[in-house]
Amino acid sequence: MKKAKNIMNTVVLTRLVMGLAILLTLVAIFLVATKRTPSGARRTDDNACTSVVVVASGDTLSKLLLEQGLTHNDVNAVAAALKSNAGISTLRADNDKIEFTRSNDNAPVSKIVVIPSPWKQVELTCDNSGAWNCKTVDIERDTRAVYRSGEIQDGDSFYLAGQRAGIPAGILVDVYDLLAFEMDFERDVRAGQKFSVLYEENFSEGKKIDNGRVLAVSFEALRGNVQMYRFRKADGTSGYYDAEGNGAIKSLKRTPINNAKVTSKFSNKRKHPVLGYTRAHKGVDFRASTGTSIPAAGAGRVVARGYNRGHGNYIKLRHNGSYETLYAHLSKFVKNVKVGTNVRQGQTIGYVGSTGMSTGPHLHYEIIKDGKHVNPMTVKLPAISNLGSADKKNFLEYRKKLDEGIAELAKNPKMFIQL
Ligand SMILES: [Zn+2]
Repeated sequence: MKKAKNIMNTVVLTRLVMGLAILLTLVAIFLVATKRTPSGARRTDDNACTSVVVVASGDTLSKLLLEQGLTHNDVNAVAAALKSNAGISTLRADNDKIEFTRSNDNAPVSKIVVIPSPWKQVELTCDNSGAWNCKTVDIERDTRAVYRSGEIQDGDSFYLAGQRAGIPAGILVDVYDLLAFEMDFERDVRAGQKFSVLYEENFSEGKKIDNGRVLAVSFEALRGNVQMYRFRKADGTSGYYDAEGNGAIKSLKRTPINNAKVTSKFSNKRKHPVLGYTRAHKGVDFRASTGTSIPAAGAGRVVARGYNRGHGNYIKLRHNGSYETLYAHLSKFVKNVKVGTNVRQGQTIGYVGSTGMSTGPHLHYEIIKDGKHVNPMTVKLPAISNLGSADKKNFLEYRKKLDEGIAELAKNPKMFIQL
């Protein structure tokens, strides 16, 4: 990683260029949408002309190729070449684009470029013998690390504060996923707390294409500053670690549903809302609307799935020798997630509802450690992966450098780190 540099002028220039690029893209989309071919075509060198088709719903590769005048033999040859060389067998509507080039208006198509993502192009050319050759070209990506910081205000959620700080929605979802291992968004979020996120933005030819990964997160939680860094180990795998290099991804999540408000906490004594008398609440309730997917808090195996009077529809997972989690009041189960099914962390295992003894749609979530109910918000959870000593040493050096870069960016948020 190169050190942060001042590219203020480039930033201004890039914005200008981006503005122009957006305008041009709109014009291009307009042309494609109104007249697919051949008037939407553009001329390149000598008389060759290229037209672009954005795949629409209902389009198939053969339909589009036949529309361009390819023979059935050519259609089959192109489809076979795409499948064997680029692994492409279906087109995605509103995403994939195809460019057709012919040597002049009346000539048959001699080159087809399939564009499945801004970072990849698959070029098919027809040689003199009529055979189709396929080549995959990766588009060069310019990745920048950008920094955004914000502060929680009165009555704010972290999501609102994050949006105000200019953090894109997709990045906020990832940040939530990470922080959910360490934080209880209900109890830990207060006005005045500061947070920051360092994340990637991907550019191609000066134009921002999409956002990349979250590289670092910091949140001044009530119980202490939560910091997480993405780090690549010597074996090439990446993960998130806290400032000391301990694995930040825990075996279980404290809050399985992102951004869900806690409506009832774990307690050994509370007045039951339906029964009316005092009874322990052995889990945490999260408000969520009926039908919201419930992700597994951790990887594990389904050990129970059924109905009882209190829990309504419930499902229980065993994660390892000591931990189990239980999810209650479900409206529906997932058909293929049955007793004995192994599930990944984050995999949907059911849907929020209000079955059993419940006053409204919510998820009742329990963590059971060695057969005893524990408070999901405070129980110390084991990390999935910790660093070995060599990786840890590298991590601490990397973290020190990254922290220096972040300190620079905090002083001037218009700067970025070229990766
Ligand atoms: Zn409950």
